[in-house]
Amino acid sequence: MSTLTIVMYHYIRDLANSRYPGIKGLTIEAFEGQLDYVTKRYEVCSMRDIVDAVHGRRALPDHACALTFDDGFLDHFTVVFPRLVARRLTASFYPPVTAIAQRTVLETHQIHLILAVAGDDAAALARRVRALIDARGDADLPPAAALYATHAVASRFDGPDVTFVKRVLQKGLPPRVRGDIIRQLFDEYVGIDPRVVARELYMDLDQLRCMVQHGMEVGGHGAEHVWLDTLSREGQEREIARTVDFLDEVYGERPRDWVMCYPFGAHDATTLDVVGAAGCVVGLTTRVGVARDLAQPLTLPRLDTNDLPRRGDASPAALEAQRG
Ligand SMILES: [Zn+2]
Repeated sequence: MSTLTIVMYHYIRDLANSRYPGIKGLTIEAFEGQLDYVTKRYEVCSMRDIVDAVHGRRALPDHACALTFDDGFLDHFTVVFPRLVARRLTASFYPPVTAIAQRTVLETHQIHLILAVAGDDAAALARRVRALIDARGDADLPPAAALYATHAVASRFDGPDVTFVKRVLQKGLPPRVRGDIIRQLFDEYVGIDPRVVARELYMDLDQLRCMVQHGMEVGGHGAEHVWLDTLSREGQEREIARTVDFLDEVYGERPRDWVMCYPFGAHDATTLDVVGAAGCVVGLTTRVGVARDLAQPLTLPRLDTNDLPRRGDASPAALEAQRG
């Protein structure tokens, strides 16, 4: 192989005619265009091919590419799966255990839905979050203005208000506090029973098994979709044990040489130790880049779908520049 390009996808749907058109996702048309582009420029591999290459059993093609779909969204079954089958492509899917097994909306996705409803008025949502933080009158919490000053910085794809909302609600506040605030905002903005939303949002076990039967692969994405590097070793071991049990349920046998996709890309030396001891051979991060070798298979970089063109006839020039 000269390069291995792993592309990461999340929501893919007919956005304009969906319940939350503001959600940060890819349209079906853009996805099809990107498949045209990818199949023209790359050779699409399976994770099995990559695992075999890691073990030195075979070499990957020159311009290898792998398609990865995070978070277990129903979009992946209804939109992605039939289009992959039609093109005789394979891909891998990374559902968090809780989303599939307990059918609750993960906090990180509740935040996406709240942001989708808030739409262009992220500033008002950020003000509401600040008000909810200060209204708690909790002496252990920093003032909302200080949190805003720290976290409201534009990121790769988001403006400062959206980044602030995501960061404080995902990680910046203590778990109990952010749980309360997310519940409150979900009620105010989305206003639908989360159990109903979960059934519209995620695949179920039978759908995952169906995709596996038709050549797709399912890997680990943790149980609760948390930053693994924030947990103790025992906490990380529990997350990975639940992940392995879940893959066992999907495949009907103990997973061997499996693939782990770290939630939020977060991992530390302990994570690599724990997943390695559990039989994981390939790890996917959110570090932006293209792999040039497989020397560090537990921390492979990925590109976001937004980094690739969405038309079969697009020039790869922009991407080549990004790789440098
Ligand atoms: Zn995820």
